[in-house]
Amino acid sequence: MITNLQTPIDYLKGVGPNRADLLRTELGIHTYQDLINLFPNRYIDRTQYYKINHLQRNNADVQVIGKITEFKEVAQQQGKRLVATFQDGTGSMELVWFRGQKWIRESIKLNTPYVIFGKTNWFNGKFSMPHPEMELLEDHEKNLRSAMQPVYPSTEKLSNKGITNRVISKIMQQLFLETNGRFKETLSENILSELKLINKSEALFNVHFPKNQELLARAQYRLKFEELFYIQLQLILKNLIHKSKIKGFPFEKVGTYFNAFFNNHLPFELTNAQKRVLKEIRHDLGSNAQMNRLLQGDVGSGKTIVALMSMLIALDNGFQACLMAPTEILSVQHYNGLVELCNKLNISIKLLTGSTKTSERKEIHHMLENGELDILIGTHALLENKVKFRNLGLAIIDEQHRFGVEQRSKLWHKSLPSGEVGGASFIPPHVLIMTATPIPRTLAMSVYGDLDISIIDELPPGRKSIKTVHRYDKNRLNVFKFIRDEIAKGRQIYIVYPLIQESETMDYKDLMDGYASIERDFPKPNYQISIVHGKMKPADKDYEMQRFIKGETNIMVATTVIEVGVNVPNASVMIIESAERFGLSQLHQLRGRVGRGAEQSYCILMTSHKLSNDSKTRLETMVRTSDGFEIAEVDLRLRGPGDIMGTQQSGVLNLKIADIIKDKDILQNARFYAKKVLNTDPSLSTSKNKVILNTYQELAKFKNIWNYIS
Ligand code: ADP
Ligand code: MG
Repeated sequence: MITNLQTPIDYLKGVGPNRADLLRTELGIHTYQDLINLFPNRYIDRTQYYKINHLQRNNADVQVIGKITEFKEVAQQQGKRLVATFQDGTGSMELVWFRGQKWIRESIKLNTPYVIFGKTNWFNGKFSMPHPEMELLEDHEKNLRSAMQPVYPSTEKLSNKGITNRVISKIMQQLFLETNGRFKETLSENILSELKLINKSEALFNVHFPKNQELLARAQYRLKFEELFYIQLQLILKNLIHKSKIKGFPFEKVGTYFNAFFNNHLPFELTNAQKRVLKEIRHDLGSNAQMNRLLQGDVGSGKTIVALMSMLIALDNGFQACLMAPTEILSVQHYNGLVELCNKLNISIKLLTGSTKTSERKEIHHMLENGELDILIGTHALLENKVKFRNLGLAIIDEQHRFGVEQRSKLWHKSLPSGEVGGASFIPPHVLIMTATPIPRTLAMSVYGDLDISIIDELPPGRKSIKTVHRYDKNRLNVFKFIRDEIAKGRQIYIVYPLIQESETMDYKDLMDGYASIERDFPKPNYQISIVHGKMKPADKDYEMQRFIKGETNIMVATTVIEVGVNVPNASVMIIESAERFGLSQLHQLRGRVGRGAEQSYCILMTSHKLSNDSKTRLETMVRTSDGFEIAEVDLRLRGPGDIMGTQQSGVLNLKIADIIKDKDILQNARFYAKKVLNTDPSLSTSKNKVILNTYQELAKFKNIWNYIS
């Protein structure tokens, strides 16, 4: 008989109402199942006992056998600490408590052998151990213990209330007693045997009470695989359902526009990566399902041309297309670029932004509705209700991280009502999302599982790599001299200041101070300076930007508003002030503003002297590499997946045992097997997959599975 694991935790012997409450509030443990899935953070080898005179000044955890000979209280700045003298015949050390002193004094016996365990400190010529774990030697010898001791996640409140790691271990033992350690298998025979995985019961036993290192490793592998397998299964199922349910316009042909452009007007040969991605997009557009594709490509990898050629396919099939960018500057740039590329093609293209005049706006609305307009480019002004297309076939979003899911879905309903709107025949436009912020492949697989992903992993030929250096503020004079030399050669310079919301006033002051000092060092009329920041009116911003683009100014002082997409090939130096305050992906984006012309480009990261370890890693990474994917991996390691767009909702954070960063090989394997299973049996209806179907449904029922929001 297998115990029902949905039994409330209160029923477990040794738990009781108080502990049950604490387990619920502190660790989210409501049921037996939850407790079993409380996996240790790490393991400690407790096979060794140390003598006090052999203790080393490292901070490893050690266990020592000895006796407490006396307690004393020592006053300190706030409150007091309890100090015990602990002796083992070879020497003496101190045990120290800052909290829970009353309980310690009442429950610990003097002059009685204990096994203590913890980290030691070396202070005033003596070893001390704060808040040791303590167990009577007598009990210690009675307890069956394994070589590897698990360390469970805990909270301060739990340990203050006496629910120590040892107590959790005890409760876990009790659970295994009550259930006989027999648990329902949750993976199919096929997978178990193909991957030579150990069975569920054995895995759970060895993850909580490992017999040895090898079994622990096998137990962990099996449980991580299982966790990732079911997440992937869910994602792939969702994607399959999306494809079967959501019809798309079948763009059957590649016609005159595309061919004319490809054969006669392509300004350069496409890179292999661009060709591959175009093929993937064409395949999607030609199928009967709606395209929902993410196009990742580093800054400068040439996403725009791919966007244009995709739009031409829409036009060839009698549809309209739109391209939405996050800022006015970027939209204008896209507009100008595309108008130039298409000038021989007889296509009508318009720009719609917040600053489009009313009369122009009206005309655009009109042309969109009667189908005279082929391509509309703009900011989120495109999303306004008044903007209605006659037949929008493809919507492209540039720099996706600036837009939310909601905006994505607004684009779905941009075409004019025709026939049964909202009815079964509703067909949304194809959607292509372009981003220059690479998401590490492993993460993308889990987070954007409902999107298909294309990657441009190759830069157009002939790009010079950007020389990146880190300089401290005190070297500013040298940096300014360098700027002067570059300007003398005819180059232009960006100087960027951080603008971080919380301290906006201060940042703004930094920017203005910086501007003033740059004006002093680079005086008119020899030097001209542009300034652009978020508090300026769009028209003023644009004016300043245009002056820089036209080469009328030598230096552009700016906040991160220039981060995205701006293209000034003659600008060859990017100076980033207070670089330690920027995130890695932002630094990488900023650096991407230079290196667009034929000249050698430079990125100079200016910082103060005091740097945190994370800041140092960020700067070193920037200096070492310009590979966006490598940078994204480091970023992910530094910040954890929580801060990366899209992961908040995705629940990648709620993984119980697997680690999205460290376990990417297992993730890949899990995805491979999830696909394999669904390829042959998409409804999981064969008997050999019954166990998978059952587990999947149960996970969904008890909400243990990742709650993916689309
Ligand atoms: P991003 O991917 O950052 O949007 P863009 O599409 O703006 O990059 O392209 C950056 C620059 O590279 C543009 O000036 C573009 O004309 C040029 N470019 C794009 N593809 C190629 C190619 N295959 N060969 C040469 N230059 C290219
Ligand atoms: Mg771009």
